[in-house]
Amino acid sequence: MSNYNVKSMKAEEFISDEEIRETLKYAEANKNNIELIDSILEKAKPQKTATGYVCKGLTHREASVLLACEIPEKVQEIFKIAEDIKLKFYGNRIVMFAPLYLSNYCVNGCVYCPYHLKNKHIARRKLTQEEVKAEVIALQDMGHKRLAIEAGEDPVNNPIEYILECINTIYSVNHKNGAIRRVNVNIAATTVENYRKLRDAGIGTYILFQETYHKESYLELHPTGPKHDYAYHTEAMDRAMEGGIDDVGLGVLFGLELYKYEFAGLLMHAEHLEAVHGVGPHTISVPRLKRADDIDPDTFDNGIDDDTFAKITACIRLAVPYTGIIISTRESQEVRSRLLNCGVSQVSGASRTSVGGYTEEERPHDTEQFDVSDQRTLDEVVRWLMENGHIPSFCTACYREGRTGDRFMSLCKSGQIVNCCHPNALMTLTEFLVDYASDETKEIGYKMIEDELNKITNSKVLAIAKDNIENIKNSNRRDFRF
Ligand code: SF4
Ligand code: SF4
Repeated sequence: MSNYNVKSMKAEEFISDEEIRETLKYAEANKNNIELIDSILEKAKPQKTATGYVCKGLTHREASVLLACEIPEKVQEIFKIAEDIKLKFYGNRIVMFAPLYLSNYCVNGCVYCPYHLKNKHIARRKLTQEEVKAEVIALQDMGHKRLAIEAGEDPVNNPIEYILECINTIYSVNHKNGAIRRVNVNIAATTVENYRKLRDAGIGTYILFQETYHKESYLELHPTGPKHDYAYHTEAMDRAMEGGIDDVGLGVLFGLELYKYEFAGLLMHAEHLEAVHGVGPHTISVPRLKRADDIDPDTFDNGIDDDTFAKITACIRLAVPYTGIIISTRESQEVRSRLLNCGVSQVSGASRTSVGGYTEEERPHDTEQFDVSDQRTLDEVVRWLMENGHIPSFCTACYREGRTGDRFMSLCKSGQIVNCCHPNALMTLTEFLVDYASDETKEIGYKMIEDELNKITNSKVLAIAKDNIENIKNSNRRDFRF
C-alpha cells in the first residue's frame, strides 16, 4: 500500500515518492487518452457564476496527464485556457518586485549555488544597516514598492535577529515619495518560533524553494550543512503557517531533476497546504538553473527547453488558478514575454543578484547568485510591459489591508478584482509614472491608464480612483488603495 497521505505532517508521506511514480505512470499511460484529456481541460476552464468566474483547479494526477500530453491541438488548448484564467482572475496586470540580497554568507553546500561554503574565492559580504538603507533608497528611486529579501543560511553571520533588523530598516526608509510597502522573505527553513518573529515583523510572503522534491537527488545536491535535512526543509511551510504566516511561496529549481517529477511534487505540496491549513500557496516561482561564478548549468542533465518551460507554467496555471506565478530576471526578455501569456502574474525588474548590487555603478558579475538575463532598467521593463498590453502594478493593498491567506483567496474568488486590483494597479502605476518614469514611459502610461479606467464597473469605485489619480498627479499624497 502507498504511504501517500495528503494530510500527513511528514514530508515523505505528503510528498510520497511512490505516489509521484504512480502519477507519472498514469500520466504516461493516458497521454493520448483524448476523452480523459478533454474532460480534464473542461474541468480546468473558468466557470461563470452570478458574480464572476470560478475555477476548480486540477489534481496533481490530472495536471500531470496534461503535462505529458503531446498532441499539438491539446497543448494549444492548455495554453489558451492558461491565458484565459490569467485574464479572468488577474486581468492584464503584472505585479512588480525586486530581490534584495542581504548576505551571501552560507554554511550550506548546495552544488548549484555559488554561495556554497566551499567556494573560497567569492567575496563574502553582509550589508550593514547603513548599507541596507542605501540599497533601499536605490530601489525606491527606481520605483520599487515590493521586495523579496534573500540571505544565505548562517546562524553566526545571518541570525534571525539580523534579518529582523534589516526588515525593520527597510520599512523605515522613506526617500522622497518612496516606500517599500511589502517585504517578502526568502531565507532558510527555520523554527516555528522564528517564523512567528518574522510574522510579527510584518513580512508579506515567506518564500522557500524546495529546489527538488526528489529525496535522493536532494541529498546529493545538498551534501553538507543544515539544508541537507530533506524533511526539515520540506516541512518548513507547515512550520511557517503554524507560526502565523498566511502567505507562503513555493518553487522548484527546474533543471536539477526530471521536470515531470518536480511538477507532480510541487502540486502535491500545494494540495497538502490546502488540505492541512485551508490555504494553498500564495505564489509559485519557476526558476531555471543558470550559470554563476563556479556553477555551469551544462553539468546538470535535466535542463528544460523554452517550450517545455512554457508548458509547465501553463499547466501550473490550470492546476492552481488562485496562486500567483512568479518569473524572475533569470529569464531573457523573450522568454518572459512568452510566459506572460501562459499565466505568469508577477515579474521582477532591474534585479541585481549580488549583495550590495544596487549601489554599485556597474553590475558586479563575479558575486551574483545567478546570471541575470534580463538586464533592462525598471523604466524599460515597465514600458515594455505596457507596450505589450500588460499593466505593471506596484500594488501591495492586500498586505496593507490585512487581506492575507484565505481572505486574499476570497477576494480572488469574489469576482471583485476588477473593482479592487484593477484601480489599485492604475493608482500605483500613476505613482510610478509621476515619481520615476521617463517622458516616453509617462506618455504610454497615462494613455493606458485613461483606457483602463473604463474597465471599472462600479461607478463609485471609478469616481474615487479618478479622484485619487488626480491627487497623486497634483500632490505628494501617495498610497491610496482599495
Ligand atoms: S542556495 Fe541558499 S542555502 Fe544553498 S548555498 Fe546558495 S545561499 Fe546557501
Ligand atoms: S488588491 Fe491585493 S490581490 Fe489585488 S493586486 Fe493588490 S495586493 Fe494583489
